[in-house]
Amino acid sequence: MIGLYIHVPYCSVRCSYCDFYLVTARGRELGVYVDALCGEIASVRPPLLGRAADTVHFGGGTPSLLAAGGVSRVLAAIRGSFALLPDAEIALEVNPEDVDEARIEGWKSRGINRLSIGVQCLDDGLLRLMRRPHDARRAVGAVLLARQSPIRSVGVDLILGLPGQDPAGALEGVERVIDLGVDHVSLYLLEVHERTLLGREIALGRRAAMDDDALAALYEAAADRLAACGFEHYEISNFARPGHRSRHNLKYWTDEDYLGFGPSAHSYVLGRRWSNAARLDAYIAARGAAIDRAEEDPSRARRAAEALIAGLRLSEGVDLAALRGRYGVHFAWPRGGTIEELMGAGLLERGGERLRLTRRGRLVSNAVLEQLLPDPRPLS
Ligand code: SF4
Repeated sequence: MIGLYIHVPYCSVRCSYCDFYLVTARGRELGVYVDALCGEIASVRPPLLGRAADTVHFGGGTPSLLAAGGVSRVLAAIRGSFALLPDAEIALEVNPEDVDEARIEGWKSRGINRLSIGVQCLDDGLLRLMRRPHDARRAVGAVLLARQSPIRSVGVDLILGLPGQDPAGALEGVERVIDLGVDHVSLYLLEVHERTLLGREIALGRRAAMDDDALAALYEAAADRLAACGFEHYEISNFARPGHRSRHNLKYWTDEDYLGFGPSAHSYVLGRRWSNAARLDAYIAARGAAIDRAEEDPSRARRAAEALIAGLRLSEGVDLAALRGRYGVHFAWPRGGTIEELMGAGLLERGGERLRLTRRGRLVSNAVLEQLLPDPRPLS
């Protein structure tokens, strides 16, 4: 079973913290872009042609800039090249300012059954700091409209650790989205990138990112609140009511195949990885065909090591027996007793064949997982 990712690299404005590859939307270009996406999807050849797909994820960028007609054309192209299962998860990332009743109805009628709404926070001052085009009232309205619609799963993204963010206010935001009845919450910690507007302001001392200890305490308090309200903390940043985990994103953490379409989209299929060139103009000019790709053919040992690291992001951890079954002798315990050291430090724990991050390990997950990265020398 394969998962399909459709990248929409357009946004109406660039948020002050965002360093993604994207362009600000250029009117009618979106229609031409959909033509190119359909061209790339139609160019799929065996052995991928006709493969069964159980997830489609429209991500970006801001895929909600696509009208229902655009979504519909992409899904028709997908059905032409893949066997899309009738109960497939078909998800769309949306920004609150793009949500209204007619649009939700349009997306739903074309097959979208999951919405992920980029709320980020419910504080107007912070939303302005982030240069988000919506305010808190608009975000709440968007969640309510989605919740009242027949869309099966409704989720929100929230960011913690913004400069000047009041922890009590951030927790109130978490409470508010829980009260609105969402099924899924992604709780991201602000990442500061030097080349963004916010990154430059922080580097110049005009703003200060939240202190690490305060941020860890806030994240823990938010996670506890979500757990108390019935959300399963199933991945470092993701919480779901039972039955509402992201099936698509789970593929990234469980070593399953996925295929990405659009400039800068990544794919991992049949043991090979590639990423499309991040060149939107060339992609549109070629109508999605013959796009430049950076290809990689990682060794089985490297894939096994990467699968271990990705699986550790899940709360249930990684199944070592399954990894051994899949990769055989190529699955090697990471070098030099690193795992034993991390277990000794209380950052990893093992129960039978399951290895996972401890609660403390989750708070410093980047640093822990970095230590498990394969040696840069080629693995056999
Ligand atoms: S909407 Fe998302 S992708 Fe677009 S600029 Fe903002 S953070 Fe980046």
